[in-house]
Amino acid sequence: MSLALETRPARRVLVPASVGHTPPPLGARVHEFSGRTMGTTWNVRIVAGAQLQREPVLRAIQGALDEVVAQMSTWDTGSSLCRFNRAAAGTWQPLPDAFFEVLACAREVAERSDGAFDPTAGALVDAWGFGPVARGAMPDEASLARARGVAGWRRLDLDPAHRSALQPGRLALDLSAIAKGFGVDLVARRLAALGFESHLVEVGGELRGSGVKPDGQPWWVRLEHPHAGEGADQPLLALHGLSVATSGDYRRWFEHAGTRYSHTIDPRDGLPIRHGLASVTVIHAQCMLADAWSTALNVLGPEAGPALANRLGLAARFLVRQDARFEERTSAAFDDLLR
Ligand code: ADP
Ligand code: MG
Repeated sequence: MSLALETRPARRVLVPASVGHTPPPLGARVHEFSGRTMGTTWNVRIVAGAQLQREPVLRAIQGALDEVVAQMSTWDTGSSLCRFNRAAAGTWQPLPDAFFEVLACAREVAERSDGAFDPTAGALVDAWGFGPVARGAMPDEASLARARGVAGWRRLDLDPAHRSALQPGRLALDLSAIAKGFGVDLVARRLAALGFESHLVEVGGELRGSGVKPDGQPWWVRLEHPHAGEGADQPLLALHGLSVATSGDYRRWFEHAGTRYSHTIDPRDGLPIRHGLASVTVIHAQCMLADAWSTALNVLGPEAGPALANRLGLAARFLVRQDARFEERTSAAFDDLLR
């Protein structure tokens, strides 16, 4: 998601009803922070007095993101998630709070999307070489069949009272399609706890904003487009108590024999998605849910995606490939934000 700094009115402006109720803080300015996490970059802006001590803020942000990695990374073999994946069949594994919270949310999105989103698709992701074991080639039928055999959100049993999950045997969790969004939420939570109510948090393109800038304006962001040249024509969104996340096939893929394979897998058949969707953007109060649903709706595709978004009241925007052009489809809740 690109950050739009200009105030020039766009063709289409998305504004939540909450805008206009927060007074701008006095004598404050915007402070910027950035760093790296989860194989990508993060950027944070907060509104605070000119005398702000930067060190504690930086530590709070990086600390929150390091926590997410230590618990939920598929790349860091010492993470809680990797430990769960290696655990013996039939054992209940107690999970740290954040990991359990994200896993429970992921399971719910899996259920509501009828398995289009699946936090247990790790073996399939690995088979296609989008996990830590890079491949960039077609998997053979035997390894795909093995991966299909162990994946499946219905095999995932959670015990909320003990914050535990059952390892039924070789179940490989992968939270890559939701953890970035959760990281954004966790950073926002920590910033608010430090008293920085007005902030814009971005991790790898997923964003969350609250409060207003010193000029009284909300944080404006411009929705992403696969073609950089089309940027100026894209809707502007006031991120006022909202998050936005995008899942798109133009971000990561590999090519084999002239076909482009997305890093998003349809867990229902175990194959990379191959319909005409270029991207799905979801706007939600929680970045974790914007992130997960953008992936879920992307898997569902250009027909079932908008239909489910409307049924669940999700604000979503679909860009459908039509030859060299893109056709836009939006849900009713997305249109409700348009002003
Ligand atoms: P990005 O924001 O990077 O475009 P996503 O948020 O869609 O990507 O997450 C993609 C990652 O999630 C993949 O690299 C893989 O690890 C995992 N993944 C792929 N397909 C699914 C799926 N159907 N459900 C859940 N996770 C998936
Ligand atoms: Mg996602």
